[in-house]
Amino acid sequence: FRSSLNFSLGRIEVQRVKMLYGYFYGGKHMKIIMLGAPGAGKGTQAKKIAEKYSIPHISTGDIFRANIKNGTELGKKAKTYMDQGLLVPDELVVDLVVDRVKQDDCSNGYVLDGFPRTIPQAEALDKALAAMGEAMDYAINVEVPDENIVRRMSGRRACVDCGATYHIVYAPTKEENICDNCHGELILREDDKPETVQKRLNVYHEQTQPLIDYYTEKNILVEVDGTVDIDEVFAAIVNVLGA
Ligand code: ADP
Ligand code: AMP
Repeated sequence: FRSSLNFSLGRIEVQRVKMLYGYFYGGKHMKIIMLGAPGAGKGTQAKKIAEKYSIPHISTGDIFRANIKNGTELGKKAKTYMDQGLLVPDELVVDLVVDRVKQDDCSNGYVLDGFPRTIPQAEALDKALAAMGEAMDYAINVEVPDENIVRRMSGRRACVDCGATYHIVYAPTKEENICDNCHGELILREDDKPETVQKRLNVYHEQTQPLIDYYTEKNILVEVDGTVDIDEVFAAIVNVLGA
């Protein structure tokens, strides 16, 4: 039904149909958090969710990387932590996300990727939403054991221009080292080098994993197996969010 509409209508009409679709089919209940270890596939799935349900994809990692690229003060501060595989302090990230979710394009929902990463971040988010009479709807935990993570990260390639991510084996580009989207150059992220990945995993277990219990208690946790193919992981998510 939707694809036949896309076919016969112009661009603006398609946008309008998508907004109405979001409004009637659960768009108001699409405030989603992606949880999981670094490299579990949060970004990969968040992009697919954002596209399917026409909601913004908000990645704090992407926001920091864009700030680093543009040489902003925030970027300079964040880089010192990111390069070491450490989390950026809560006070540098909370307001940024809270301001972002208040923007108009978030009215039908959004998918948070890489935030919250600590209990204080989760509490600050809940408090800000409660003040608006809102709450998160789903926390989707993409489960991948540590053994698989290092292989995932060493093969991940990111586009320097548009931020698209690929994997040399699991999600290859059409042309080697050239972004399918924008023809930008692909790089191995500095923090994806094996020595930093182990540190990021430790940080994840200490500071971020407790969020699984936090969202279980809030009754919004959804667990998906992240070790299967990208499309299979997505199918499991759609099964929960609705087709
Ligand atoms: P995260 O956002 O959780 O750090 P990414 O979405 O960037 O993780 O995924 C990490 C790497 O693993 C990327 O190179 C991505 O292409 C690849 N990847 C993601 N999901 C899968 C999957 N289900 N199977 C195999 N590789 C995957
Ligand atoms: P990501 O792209 O999500 O893997 O994030 C890359 C890096 O950015 C992380 O290792 C952290 O240093 C930093 N970062 C991203 N999101 C957050 C967050 N919510 N809290 C603290 N640091 C973050």
